[in-house]
Amino acid sequence: MIYNPQMECMSREEMRELQSQRLKDIVKTCYRKSKFYRRKMAEMDVTPDDIQSIDDIHKLPFTTKFDLRDEYPFGLMVVPPTEIARVHASSGTTGKPVIDVYTKNDLDMWSEGVARVMAAGGVGPGDTVQVSYGYGLFTGGLGAHEGAARLGACQLPTSSGNTEKQIMLMEDLRTNVLACTPSYAMRLAEAIQNSDRVSINKMALRCGFFGAEPWTEGMRRELEEKLHIKAYDIYGLTEMCGPGVGGECECQNGTHLWEDMFYPEIINPETLQPVAPGEFGELVFTSLCKEAMPILRYRTRDLTRLHYEKCECGRTAVRMDRILGRSDDMMIIRGVNVFPSQIEACLTEFPAFQPYYFITVDRVNNEDTFDLDVELKPEYFRRSPEGQMPHIQPLYDRIVSMVGIKPNIHILPPMTLERSSGKAKHTCDKRNFKN
Ligand code: ADP
Ligand code: ZN
Repeated sequence: MIYNPQMECMSREEMRELQSQRLKDIVKTCYRKSKFYRRKMAEMDVTPDDIQSIDDIHKLPFTTKFDLRDEYPFGLMVVPPTEIARVHASSGTTGKPVIDVYTKNDLDMWSEGVARVMAAGGVGPGDTVQVSYGYGLFTGGLGAHEGAARLGACQLPTSSGNTEKQIMLMEDLRTNVLACTPSYAMRLAEAIQNSDRVSINKMALRCGFFGAEPWTEGMRRELEEKLHIKAYDIYGLTEMCGPGVGGECECQNGTHLWEDMFYPEIINPETLQPVAPGEFGELVFTSLCKEAMPILRYRTRDLTRLHYEKCECGRTAVRMDRILGRSDDMMIIRGVNVFPSQIEACLTEFPAFQPYYFITVDRVNNEDTFDLDVELKPEYFRRSPEGQMPHIQPLYDRIVSMVGIKPNIHILPPMTLERSSGKAKHTCDKRNFKN
């Protein structure tokens, strides 16, 4: 179902008109009410009069995560505190977390974004949506919760973790929609598979909305097969609101971005210039309707590309490719750029391996080492003769052809690698701890 046909299926010309109008308004607000943006715009010698249409967006300054940290907590807020309805924060692995503040209208806009994604998967009254994203400052839990509520579905707010109980409730309450990170969905799938008590055949699951971290087509296949569902991507970031900046439609051929609310650009992260249409680069968003904390040209560090052709589903909203990774997840090993998601893509091509892995990079005798721990599937482990590790050469060859460097692969028995209930951690770069 299309939740908001007017916005999701608008002609490209009308969309440009709407974006132009909204950009002009938001720039005026930023200029008038935000010291930070007035200073930044002055540095670039630009005033609101220079912004006459969406094509002028490149005249505006970028905003980075460092800016948001410098302005912590409320430096970018442009409404009085009495209008603030909620505050969220991103995980903030390094330094201060990034804060986002919301007016009531901001919360409405956010829940609409999530509702559009879930509606595309057919969610509505009568459905039970198990929200296994963490609840709290993290936007995942409450974001998915409010989107499901808006569609009239029943919310089951289990939050993340406590896998046994999740599965018990999933079975007893006939959950048919699951929302969590793809890595946690995999962990749930695995626990169901390993259980003597429950069987996926007796469960009611129909679809899942997975996001908050990069995942691959191979992972989608695994999840769809193991959980008997249709698995949809949902994308978002705290700085724009949280999950629901976009999501996949029933065609599953790209993640539609709700560009009436968040204007996307792709830039070359080195030159900061726009890339040619359809090329890969860094995704940048300008919030077009956020009231409490509007953000101009936010550099997400997420790498992807955009497609503007109309989708078969009828939506005209631009589609993005799966996120390859964040520029800061990229590891440069022996001079070659490696993204963890490339390793996941290789692993899921081989039936013997779980889509779990851990990459350790170090420097020994002035040379980078690239160690990759992978895990055998239990059914494969049982079949393989003692002491003989199967199928390493094809995996090795595939990784060499995909990323261009030779890994040291270590095959581990089932259930050895750490499972995550939120965003999974896949890498350790020991070179960071050395001089
Ligand atoms: P943090 O920066 O602390 O992780 P967020 O929880 O706001 O804060 O995470 C947003 C980021 O999560 C995005 O910028 C992106 O890197 C990643 N992300 C979110 N959804 C997806 C998705 N569907 N696919 C790939 N990456 C995603
Ligand atoms: Zn579509």
